[in-house]
Parts: sequence; C-alpha cells; structure tokens
Amino acid sequence: MAAELSFSDEIANMMYASHGNPIRECIQCGTCSGTCPAAEFMDHTPRQIIGMIRADLKDEVLASNTYWSCASCYHCTVRCPAGIDIADMMYALKRYSMWKKSYQEGLIGPAFSESFVKMIAGSGRSFEPQLAPAYLFKYGPRGLIQEAQMATSLVFKGRMPLLPRKIKGLENFQRMVRRIIPIGESS
Ligand code: SF4
Ligand code: SF4
Repeated sequence: MAAELSFSDEIANMMYASHGNPIRECIQCGTCSGTCPAAEFMDHTPRQIIGMIRADLKDEVLASNTYWSCASCYHCTVRCPAGIDIADMMYALKRYSMWKKSYQEGLIGPAFSESFVKMIAGSGRSFEPQLAPAYLFKYGPRGLIQEAQMATSLVFKGRMPLLPRKIKGLENFQRMVRRIIPIGESS
C-alpha cells in the first residue's frame, strides 16, 4: 500500500514550477513576511503559513485567509534565500482548497476564481459582466450601482463589449485547459 502523503508533500506536488518539496527548505528567516505588501490583511504571514504547512497543520492552513489575500506580486519569491517560489505555493494552496472545497466562509476569492476559470474555459476570453455576480453582491446596493455606472461608461467608450466573444480555435484551447485543471471544463 502506498504511503500517505504529508500535507506538505501534497502542496508541493501542486506547485507547477517545483521539483521535490521546496517547502522543506524554508529556514523561517521571515524575509517573505517582511517584504509582503499584503501581510497586514492575512490571518497568518507567509513565514507562518509555510511553517504551518511544514508542521502538517492542514485544518488551520485551510481555515486561513492568507493565500486568498496574496496579491501575486512575487516579491517574496525573488527574495527568498532558500529559492522557494512562495507565490506559486500560494496558488497551490488556492487550488488545493478549491479541490477539497475547504476554505474560510465569506471569502470572495473562491467564487471569483471558479467563475473566472469557467469563463475562460468556456470562451477563451475574460468578460467582466459574467464575473460580476461572484463578488458584486458582497458590496451591497451602493457598490452595485457604482459598478453598474462604471460598466455602462466602459461600454459606451468601446472599452468593454456588450456580449461575450469567443476566441478562434476554442476547442484546442479547451483541450489544453482540461489537461491542466479539471475545473476548467465548461458547464
Ligand atoms: S523567505 Fe523563504 S526561507 Fe525565509 S521564511 Fe520565507 S519561505 Fe522561508
Ligand atoms: S506574492 Fe503574495 S505572499 Fe508573496 S509577497 Fe506578494 S502578496 Fe505577499
């Protein structure tokens, strides 16, 4: 019987650009946390979250908002003395939590990400009005009106199409997406 993977190995396996388990190389120096512009919005700093993954604190990690607050700026990745692609690790955590349907309630990120991936897989293009329901209602009537005004203005200026458009060679693109992410199947 195959040995059960540790949480740390599971996350490392979901990092696209890594070999082995780079998470084990962390020396807990805190450079990532010190350089992170989004750290103040995170339940746990990047240094803390990587320490928690190494300690296999799976439930605590999945309950954290840290990776959904990551702005993907890659500051941490380029500065990490251990060469860990922390931004890629944050994406791996997002994918893992979506896969397991286990994330903090009330976050906009999971619904937004799912809508975005399905929209791209369905048409090959981003179409903002299709994304809006994933987050607009979180901002209440005032936010809704502001966004509607902005969208109307963009349509009149020709910066946003009124209807979604598909790319050429969509079937080939969809085949490629399905090989990478099963969630990319259009529904
Ligand atoms: S910068 Fe790299 S080595 Fe230092 S705590 Fe962050 S992940 Fe670990
Ligand atoms: S990529 Fe994410 S975790 Fe890293 S510094 Fe930027 S916001 Fe912080």
